[in-house]
Amino acid sequence: MIIVLKKESQPHLDTIRERLIANGFKFNVLEGVKFILIPVLGDFTTSDINRFRSIPGVENVIRISSPYYLVTKEYKKKSVLDIGGVPIGDSFSFIAGPCSVENEESLTRIAEFLAKQGVKILRGGTFKMRSSPYSFQGLGLEGLVILKRVADNFGMKTVSEIPDIRQLDAFMEYVDIIQVGARNMFNFQLLKELGRVNKPLMLKRSPSAKIEDLLLSAEYILNECNEQIILCELGKVSFDDASRSSVNIAAIPILKEATHLPVFLDPSHGVGIAKYVPKVAEAAAVLGADGIMVEVHFDPSNALSDGFQSITLESFSRICQNIGRLNSCLREN
Ligand code: PEP
Ligand code: MN
Repeated sequence: MIIVLKKESQPHLDTIRERLIANGFKFNVLEGVKFILIPVLGDFTTSDINRFRSIPGVENVIRISSPYYLVTKEYKKKSVLDIGGVPIGDSFSFIAGPCSVENEESLTRIAEFLAKQGVKILRGGTFKMRSSPYSFQGLGLEGLVILKRVADNFGMKTVSEIPDIRQLDAFMEYVDIIQVGARNMFNFQLLKELGRVNKPLMLKRSPSAKIEDLLLSAEYILNECNEQIILCELGKVSFDDASRSSVNIAAIPILKEATHLPVFLDPSHGVGIAKYVPKVAEAAAVLGADGIMVEVHFDPSNALSDGFQSITLESFSRICQNIGRLNSCLREN
């Protein structure tokens, strides 16, 4: 890190020197025209360097190393997750299903189609985190039971979003991947609790989080020992209301370089408009994502939640074909 002082803070220099020596740090003092720079040697990856900001006279503290380690490729080259025999992270994967589990019949109709397309992981919201208390809140525990029963019938695995830690036992029993939704990405107590369980997690990026925040949230989980994490990008808040959020496709190669964890894109919650979902889904494959999670419904206009962004079964099958073709092209080149 580099400690920066204004020239007029020179009288504080001795105190700062004493503090650094007392803490055993090696450092140098570079006196410029307007500023004094103190490069401090050491590994500050896992320490809170903000404490140095409160030393009198300090103008700024600049971090050089990243503030996380366990998510990086220095810690581990590549993570391939094993979701009950289904690998995630070794080739492009599809997670698909309705926004919410609505009832057994409709989920069966969707799952049957998806299974025929080769989809191995079925999504379905059960405890929905809706903006309005008057919107469909999900079937709760009953939804989890239906999700598992339907998935079992087609040999599929499941993912559903956990609203809070009180539901952990049910999620441990009924789902194969516990989703931490965008709204809970900053719920550090929940992240710590989930870091202590032996269950794969899908961590979605909050639209108001920086990439660094997403990586730090994953670091919280890894720090508790759960290393089975899929990161999911879905876009960020923007002044532009032409789409639900601004899908940051650049986040995919950035994350792929930064971390060993598998990286997914959720084009449905990202774009929020069904007709644009296929192109953005295909872009994810081109950019090197490990997969997409997409909302699919046989009758989007009658879906109980997020129908406007849910693609039809036919549209999903076209995406699969196109991504299949793109992936074989990319493998050849
Ligand atoms: C979801 O995937 O069902 C969901 C609500 O996601 P998000 O966290 O992106 O809102
Ligand atoms: Mn949804």
